Amino acid sequence: GLCSVSTGFPNARLIGHGNARSQLLTPALILDHDQFLANLQAMQHIANLAGVTLRPHGKAHKCPEMAHRQIAAGAVGICAATPGEAEVFARAGISDILMTSTFATRAAAERLADIAASGTRLSLVADSLVSVNLIAAALAHRKANARILIDIDTGRHRSGARSVEAARELADAILKTGNLELAGIQAYAGHLSHWEDLASRTDQAQAVGQVLEKMLEGLRPHLPQNPVVTGGSTGAFRQELALELYTELQCGSYALMDAEYDRVDPDGTGTPAFPTALFVSTAVISSNVPGRVTTDGGEKRFAAKLGTLPVLRRGAPDGATYQPSSDEHGTILLPEGTSLPAGSLVEVQVPHCDPTVNLYDALHVMRGEKLEAIWPIAARGA
Ligand code: PLP
Ligand code: MN
Repeated sequence: GLCSVSTGFPNARLIGHGNARSQLLTPALILDHDQFLANLQAMQHIANLAGVTLRPHGKAHKCPEMAHRQIAAGAVGICAATPGEAEVFARAGISDILMTSTFATRAAAERLADIAASGTRLSLVADSLVSVNLIAAALAHRKANARILIDIDTGRHRSGARSVEAARELADAILKTGNLELAGIQAYAGHLSHWEDLASRTDQAQAVGQVLEKMLEGLRPHLPQNPVVTGGSTGAFRQELALELYTELQCGSYALMDAEYDRVDPDGTGTPAFPTALFVSTAVISSNVPGRVTTDGGEKRFAAKLGTLPVLRRGAPDGATYQPSSDEHGTILLPEGTSLPAGSLVEVQVPHCDPTVNLYDALHVMRGEKLEAIWPIAARGA
């Protein structure tokens, strides 16, 4: 249940109060608890129907309380983007973690090997002999083991092996280590995630499928009989699942959603893949100028990838717009003839959930007007 009570946070005294929503110290990151759980169930249902496992990306929320609920809803484990995130999730009792970023320094390999040695079932991805050699040495030192996936460049050009020959060379090196179990491949197609046009996103997914087929064929002698093929994003998972090559989805944003993902039509229905569960509550702190007011939610409270603005969702007149306008302050432009008194609280949808969550210490878990719990963003900054 919703038993976690964190007393160190400024709004902790409101936990359990039935009308806390209007009394929050702002700016406050808030989670619509029931919508969050509904999103977890909806995505798990999609994965189950497709016959794939779901391993949600923890970079979206950096919050072990959320990760535990994703696993309770049926996820096989959690993805982490950094060694620090993996460490926080492992310490919080998440027992099966995939770090989806390649790593290539001794410092990172040592930290990852520590996590593997602590008993967590840790999976890593590699696209170079540098990573394989570093992690094999760090694991050997600790008499520990890890699973490893060969990272494939599907067209995003961020990381990944780019030819069958390169992937085979990695597979050979992995099989020789003795402490790395080659479990399959990672084929994250990040370039598809926010591709707004459905037809060309579908075409691009086909191109990803061709890369994958070639890689899987070329690596067949090296891979286990049913290799893991992990990847997928909230914006493109329908097109990715249609390839029938993935065995595991690693979507993250679906749990929270944001304004940038609201612009992506997942399947031609014209509606976002999931309703939004994450908002920022911010207070009007000055209301002296006609047509505009100032809030306490500025640049430091919102992160965007595409220059997207927060979207007013509650408490403001229809047609009003929100703009973080300085470090600490936001401006709401009001339509003709409307006003918003000082002291009003307004709630906005955030532009981009993952980097926005990283700006806050805690999530306020709301059910209607009631504050059910405060969940620490424990991997914030990690
Ligand atoms: N997998 C990897 C490797 C990622 O980098 C990301 C996000 O950028 C995801 C999965 C999750 O994507 P999304 O939050 O778009 O569902
Ligand atoms: Mn994102």
